[in-house]
Amino acid sequence: MVKLMPVIYKCSSCSYILYEFLKVGQDSYGLPTPSELIAKIGDHCPNCGKKLKLPTLENIKITPYRVKKSLTLSSIYNSRNYSRI
Ligand SMILES: [Zn+2]
Repeated sequence: MVKLMPVIYKCSSCSYILYEFLKVGQDSYGLPTPSELIAKIGDHCPNCGKKLKLPTLENIKITPYRVKKSLTLSSIYNSRNYSRI
């Protein structure tokens, strides 16, 4: 049995979540590669403005999936609201 893991692309500078791929069928394109994601959202972090570049193997982390409260959408929005100036 194949167990799918969600894939999360984060800004390497501020850890802003750029894209979350939670399951197959989430959208019609499947999991974007980093270069496809950059083509889609642009090459700068929308949160801190850092120029995004393609990850090297050292940048890729594989961690067991745990549902954390800190990863819910509402907490992301709350933290964005909190940091708004
Ligand atoms: Zn950033």
